[in-house]
Amino acid sequence: MRKTVIAGNWKMNMTPSAARAFVEELKPLVAGKNGCDIVLCVPYVDIATAAEAAKGSCLHIGAENVHYEASGAYTGEVSSSMLLEAGAEYVIVGHSERRQYFGETDHTVNLRAKAALSAGMKVILCLGELLEARQAGITEEIVSMQTKLDLAGIAEEDLSRLIIAYEPVWAIGTGLTATPEQADEACGIIRRVVASLYSEKAASELTIQYGGSMNEKNAAELLAKENVDGGLIGGASLVPAKFATIVAAAD
Ligand code: PEP
Repeated sequence: MRKTVIAGNWKMNMTPSAARAFVEELKPLVAGKNGCDIVLCVPYVDIATAAEAAKGSCLHIGAENVHYEASGAYTGEVSSSMLLEAGAEYVIVGHSERRQYFGETDHTVNLRAKAALSAGMKVILCLGELLEARQAGITEEIVSMQTKLDLAGIAEEDLSRLIIAYEPVWAIGTGLTATPEQADEACGIIRRVVASLYSEKAASELTIQYGGSMNEKNAAELLAKENVDGGLIGGASLVPAKFATIVAAAD
């Protein structure tokens, strides 16, 4: 049995006071939804407030990125131990906006994933093809290559704390959603690569999310697909009622 995980990615939205109000509003809407894990990945400055507000509920808090060094002269960066102490259990690495606007490469994504895992965090590792790649018919090659590069050097025993989010870049924040069949196919490709890198057991136990304009209307049919084990949700995670509807679809 794979764990279904519904995670919100707030991106650069919400002040700490807005984060507290959001969590308070969401808590009763998702109470008792034990069929999936629910995570809110929030801006660094919101972590402590969101974690405090979430105490005693089924909500887990995550960050949106992490640096790969434990400490040092890396102005503006944040380490795993800082995130853990602030109250983040999860962290996103490799989001396409980090790759697109902040120069992230598969190499730095891999370093961040390894650092966070060795510090004891749970990692949501994002990958996915650009529109040009899909149009050129090379989605499988790109997604397979990213999976191999991003997982390099990660031990099989750490995969229990790793989630892969398949996020086609053309579907993120665009209102364009992959069809359930496209999402299932790409998540299946990732699962096959994981089986070839590790084992059938590791692949069959790995949670693979879909992300890209998932919302309260399309979540149920995406989540019904065999290889789609949850969602990473941007825009629709900013409205408690919409996010709770997605959680209900997964539950
Ligand atoms: C995301 O930020 O990971 C994402 C999928 O965003 P959206 O749901 O807004 O497309």
